[in-house]
Amino acid sequence: MTSSSTVPVFLSMPSVPRIRRSPAEIAAAVPVVGGRKVLLAAPRGYCAGVDRAVIAVEKALEHYGAPVYVRKQIVHNLHVVSTLEERGAIFVEETDEVPEGALVVFSAHGVSPAVVASAETRGLRTIDATCPLVTKVHREAVRFAKEDYEILLIGHEGHEEVEGTYGEAPEHIQIVNNPEEADTIVVQNPDKLIWLSQTTLSVDETMETVRRLRSRFPNLQDPPSDDICYATSNRQNAIKEIAPSADLVIVVGSSNSSNSVRLVEVALEYGAKASYRVDYANEVDESWFEGVATVGVTSGASVPEVLVRDVLSLLADYGFADVQEITVAEEDILFSLPKEIRAKLKEAGDDSRGLGGRGSRAK
Ligand code: SF4
Repeated sequence: MTSSSTVPVFLSMPSVPRIRRSPAEIAAAVPVVGGRKVLLAAPRGYCAGVDRAVIAVEKALEHYGAPVYVRKQIVHNLHVVSTLEERGAIFVEETDEVPEGALVVFSAHGVSPAVVASAETRGLRTIDATCPLVTKVHREAVRFAKEDYEILLIGHEGHEEVEGTYGEAPEHIQIVNNPEEADTIVVQNPDKLIWLSQTTLSVDETMETVRRLRSRFPNLQDPPSDDICYATSNRQNAIKEIAPSADLVIVVGSSNSSNSVRLVEVALEYGAKASYRVDYANEVDESWFEGVATVGVTSGASVPEVLVRDVLSLLADYGFADVQEITVAEEDILFSLPKEIRAKLKEAGDDSRGLGGRGSRAK
């Protein structure tokens, strides 16, 4: 169901300053015409898994002290990573960059058993901030490998989440990157075959990949439950609603954020005349506004709301001050913080944030 409403205010990470042009400069560059508006997608921004992972690092810094090492970007967002770096987090690519005995957080995208083993060998203390919905896919991979299934993992090779899931049972898993690969992939036993997927893919493209696989392997089994997560689906559904009416869709999110990049693709596929991804408001190019009456705005699941607010403020400067929120779903999912953090909070008598979840970012 879709509803529209006035826009609530969320607070989170610090805002990013930008150079503001004067109204006269803006009027000269992009003359303001009547009827300009913004359709703001909801849900957008932080999902429960991202929120949980970011809080885990914040709480680790607070209770263990800096530095706290984090393997890979905790979530795929430049602003989040740089803000945590300023607070004392050190992001590394691999655990062998972490001094022996130090504390390391595994990112929301998950890790393979080999990474866990390597951390153990080096005597590292670990906090696992893997999103529970990624862990669910890992468990499925382990379970079906044990039952001797061949697993087709639909996802993007090289993405950290796919590396982690693949690492659970490499001898049983093949990665299918896109629908075209479904036409050529070779399997050993088409009668004991199941597909799983990365959590942040395009729902439509994944279904197309499955359709093509099933046309070749009719006994292909579906995962026990959806692997593409609720947050990815909801953000795509919201932009599908907005795109047909939008001359331009701006997606706030980083270039390595799979679900953010998918939102640009979905916007174009569903009728937006143009769509661009930006990390920050100052990347918005005023030439995008020429001839534009309606701008859609959304953000990926790893994006703090403050970055969307910055884009809305810039849009208001250009005459897009009428903001209508288009809501396709309500999200109230919360995940418990990683057990290591919960234990530490208990020990310290800190009950301020026993749970992650989008709402907690507004506090
Ligand atoms: S996008 Fe989905 S799978 Fe990824 S962290 Fe968020 S809730 Fe978890």
